[in-house]
Order: sequence, then C-alpha cells, then structure tokens
Amino acid sequence: MKSLSGILTGMTVLLIFLSLLFILVFILLLRTFAVSKGAPLPPYVAQERENPLAAEKLAQAIRFRTESFSDLGNIDLKGYEGFHHFLRQAFPLVHRHLQRQTISDYAVLYTWQGKDESLQPVVLMAHWDVVPVAPAEEVRWTYPPYGGVLADGYIHGRGSLDDKLSLISIFEAVETLLSQAFQPERTVYLALGGDEEIGGTLGAAATVRYLEERNIRPLWVLDEASVILQGGLLGITRPLALIGVAEKGHADIMVIAQGRDGHASMPPASTAVGILAKAVCRVEKRPSRIRLLPMVRRFLENLAPHTSFALKLVLSNLWLTGPLVGRILAKAPSSNSLVRTTRAFTVLQGSSAENILPEKAAAIANCRILPGDSVQDTLTAIRKAVRDERVTVEVFRPEDSGEPVPPSPLEGEGYKKITETLSEVLPGVVPCPFLFNATTDSRYFSRICDTTIRFMPVILQNEDLSLFHGTNERVSVRNLSQYVEFLVHLLRKT
Ligand SMILES: [Zn+2]
Repeated sequence: MKSLSGILTGMTVLLIFLSLLFILVFILLLRTFAVSKGAPLPPYVAQERENPLAAEKLAQAIRFRTESFSDLGNIDLKGYEGFHHFLRQAFPLVHRHLQRQTISDYAVLYTWQGKDESLQPVVLMAHWDVVPVAPAEEVRWTYPPYGGVLADGYIHGRGSLDDKLSLISIFEAVETLLSQAFQPERTVYLALGGDEEIGGTLGAAATVRYLEERNIRPLWVLDEASVILQGGLLGITRPLALIGVAEKGHADIMVIAQGRDGHASMPPASTAVGILAKAVCRVEKRPSRIRLLPMVRRFLENLAPHTSFALKLVLSNLWLTGPLVGRILAKAPSSNSLVRTTRAFTVLQGSSAENILPEKAAAIANCRILPGDSVQDTLTAIRKAVRDERVTVEVFRPEDSGEPVPPSPLEGEGYKKITETLSEVLPGVVPCPFLFNATTDSRYFSRICDTTIRFMPVILQNEDLSLFHGTNERVSVRNLSQYVEFLVHLLRKT
C-alpha cells in the first residue's frame, strides 16, 4: 500500500511538472506568434528623392567655417554673423513670417506663431557650429571640408551630417510650408545653437532659460542624434529608425593614488603607479550592474517580429529571458552601453621624469550613466570597488558632468507623431525607441519638457556612423530630401 501511494505521489508530481511545462511552452509560443502577427509593416522599398534646391543651400551652408572651440576666444563670431546673413538670404519667407530673437552670440530663437495660442508649442532644434578640422588634416579629405562640394549624389563637407543637415532641413521645410500659405496649429520654435560641440552652455541652455522665464513649456522637442540604421543588427534587413528618447548622463571620475616621492633607485614595494594600477583593475573587474530599462525592452520587442524564429521566441518573452538577454547584450561594447553605466579609463598621470617616484598617480574614467543611476551613484560604486585608503576617488570637473535624461513617454504625443510621420514618409521602416549614449543640446530642455526626442530621419549604414566628426563627412541628396519631406509631414500634423 505504501509503495503504491508513493508511486501515486510521484506520478502526481510528474503530472504537475509536465502541466506547468506545457503551460510555460504554450505562453512562450503564444507570445512569439502574437509578436509575429501584431502590427504588420508594409515591405520597405527605397525611394528616389531629389531636392536640388535644398542640396544647393546645404552646400552653401557648409562653406561657412563655423567651428567652435572650448577656448571661446578662438571662435570666429564674424563668421557666425556671415552664416546668419546667408540664412536670411536663402530663406526669405522664414525671415518674413517668423519672429527672430537673438538670445546670445550662441543662440537664436525663431517663433512661428500657431493658429491656436492655447496649445502647447513644440521645438525643432539644430546647431550651426561644427567640430574643427585641423589644417594638417585637410589633405586627408577627398573634397575640401569647407568646399561645400556637390558630387556623386552627395553633399560633401564638415557639418553635412552634424548638424547643418538638420538646420537646413528645418528651414527648407518651413520655407516650403510658408510658400503654401500654411500655418501650424501650435506655435513652433526653431531653436538654433552655436556652441553645441563645446557643451551648449551659452546656447541651448540660454534658450531654455529664456523660455522658462516666460513660463513656456513645450509639448515636445526634436533634436539631432540617432538615425535610421540599415543592415547588420540581428540580421534584420529592414531599416531601423532608432528614435532617441533618452540620453545617458556623463561624468569624468578621477582615481588618485598617494605614494611617496623620492629617487626611483630606492623604491618602496609599490609606487603610486602600482597602487593606482591595482585600483583601476578592481574597478574594471566590478562593472556596474546590468539593467534592462523598460525602453530598452520595448526596443528589443519592436525588433522581434523581424528576426528569426529562435530570436523572436527569446525577444518576445523578456519577462523570462530578460536576465539572459541582458548578459548577452553586455558582451559586446556597443550593446553593453545600452544595459549599464559604463566606465572607460582614458587619461593617466604619473611622475614627470623616469627617475622620480611619483607622489601621486591618477587615472580618469569617462563614465556614461544609465538613466536610473546618477553621478553620485557612479562615484559611490567606483569608491566601493577601489576599497583602498591610499586611493581617493572624486568627480573631475563636476561642472562638466550631467545627469542622465529619463526616457520620454512612448505613449506621448511627440513619439506618436514621429512614428506616424515615419510610416507615411518611409513605410516599412521599423520604429524603435532608443537610448542615445552621447549628449545633445536637447538635454537642457528636459527641465521644461517631458518629451525630448533625438532623431534624424536619414538612412545610414553602420560604417557611415564614423562620418560624424570624421574625415570625408557627407550626406546623400536623397537623405537630405527625405529629411525635408519628413519635417513637412510632421509640421503639417503639429
Ligand atoms: Zn551635433
């Protein structure tokens, strides 16, 4: 009797286990198939787009050498003036119908009055400054960086992507709409900066203060940054619109080891450099914890329908597979940056001569902070990892650090309008919320606006991304024309 009841209990346990397994497999498959069926996208077909007028204006814009430098004395403000003069000539309707306000040498704000003053306004941002090209590097360019050459279907030169592309696209879109006697429902601000590449403190930050003082709170803000990426990611062939809805924070953290100075011929067992090396190793061995932010989950879920069955199964069941997916993402530097606060040791300081023991040695870690963490959290985590009283850890140039920008609501008006416009202008492109890991001027707006979006509707390949701030920066006429068309559609529904 006893053995029979034992067998029965065993069978019950096995039955319960099999039922649970069956339910689990059923849920996994159900979610996988639901993902495949949901929100069907039309096939993506690349379209030819031509806007020779906009191309000529961008080429002209590039010819102004509007470089910005951390040492403000090196900035050619006369050159900036020349650029604004060019804008007045190239976009007469914009300058006739919009109110233009100089906020500072580094910020200009245009106001396009909307029909309904009770509605919250929106903001389109761009910057006219560019990162410098050292004269010695100019020979490496196929076309002169400030030649503004139009050749082979491309506009070549510094700023052709970052960010005169956005600036000219915005102005061309507004000029086009004005020529059709269009007036937006909401007021539209065009916020231009001239110091984005050196931090935006005198440009975008001043514009935000100006709006804040007038109690103006935009509904959404659209700035430069992420693009539509084609090819490469998880074997997906469709272009992926990486819509930057959040931004990582940034801090440089200095690790300083104390030693004793003296002649290097009679050294202690460990010099300041040795102590520092151990501290750096400890920090690298204890990376920050992996976290899948809700927006990163949404990013992966949006990719799921366009992947293989196995990947679809994994990505549409993140409630179960999330921890595993996080660990896989952390393996490659590019995806690791999506799931954790990163720290990269970049600068080292030690003794000034080979035969002098350093009194102290220091290393700086460039940290990119995931939304949810803070500068203080990052500092504390590095201190914890170091655990050595001979070593101090502090924020280097605290005024240059910035907290992360929390994700903009994906259900909000801004994200919705942008994805709607995408489906009209570029049907078949997959919209994905994206975490941007550099900083943009739009971060200043997060003080007065919940939705700051970083997105440029241009289709680029992975290898094109090095053109930002790189040699032979260029943009195709097709991409520029597409950008203008996108903004025309977006403004029509604003
Ligand atoms: Zn830029």
